[in-house]
Amino acid sequence: MEQLKMESYRTDKTLEEHGEAEGLIKEIHGVHPMDYLLRTERLPHIWCPGCGLGTAMTCLLNALVKAELDLDKVCVVSGIGCTGRVPGYVRLDSFHTTHGRAIPFATGLKLANPELQVVVISGDGDLVTIGGNHFIHAARRNMDITVICVNNFNYGMTGGQAGATTPIGGYTTTTPYGNYEYPFNVSALAAASGAVYVARWTVLHARRLERSIVEALLKPGFSLVEVISPCPTGFGRRHRQREGIDTLRYYREHGVIRHGTDPRETDIALGGAIIEGKFVDIEKPTFLEQHARMLEHIAGK
Ligand code: SF4
Repeated sequence: MEQLKMESYRTDKTLEEHGEAEGLIKEIHGVHPMDYLLRTERLPHIWCPGCGLGTAMTCLLNALVKAELDLDKVCVVSGIGCTGRVPGYVRLDSFHTTHGRAIPFATGLKLANPELQVVVISGDGDLVTIGGNHFIHAARRNMDITVICVNNFNYGMTGGQAGATTPIGGYTTTTPYGNYEYPFNVSALAAASGAVYVARWTVLHARRLERSIVEALLKPGFSLVEVISPCPTGFGRRHRQREGIDTLRYYREHGVIRHGTDPRETDIALGGAIIEGKFVDIEKPTFLEQHARMLEHIAGK
């Protein structure tokens, strides 16, 4: 990793060596301190102006560094969607898997090599709508992975359709008169399913979000950080938030930090408060610990 870091800071490479796009970006913007953690040859990214995903990804990268993990043992996994692009941009071992299947893929990685630090970062549509069953069972088992769920209340990439997190009354391409289905509360779902660490922040609260990701990374077992994030293209513009900055303003006005709140009392309604903070931080044997105990029991130890 150190070698990669040095490579990224070299200024004597040719355009061909860097790749044309990367070379142009460096020429215009210079070198960024996080470049060594990014596949800069893949930039510019595909995210829309005002999207919160850049902030969410930066918080994850900063947290990985601050947690002082061995980055050679970190794996970043996603499913499909706008958030699903993150593994393509991080210069770490990373996997962009099929829709809704990030968690079983991550589970397989962890079981095959328990030394790995496995991080899932994906959207609400991927994790709790299409992949909902995997989400609740990984939490139930207390599987040793960290899940970052970027929640923007709709399927952004595929055209702004409603998902399991769309609030009542939310306008999407598939609910033009307003959503009438009851939504999931992602944090409450994780807590009810057995997660040992649950926190929620908006991307406006980037420092706090980063700190929570550090805690989640260092927590043995299933940890969940829900990241509330603007999607001006799919959701915001249908709710008088045409620009990402409009949504950030909304977060500033409606964000309420309440650590320790019962996650069942943190439902998100259109126009209502967004309760943020660390909701759950408990100790419980992880899946791998339970498995090791069973092996010892069978061996008669
Ligand atoms: Fe971001 Fe939404 Fe655009 Fe996807 S569609 S990149 S979530 S703003």
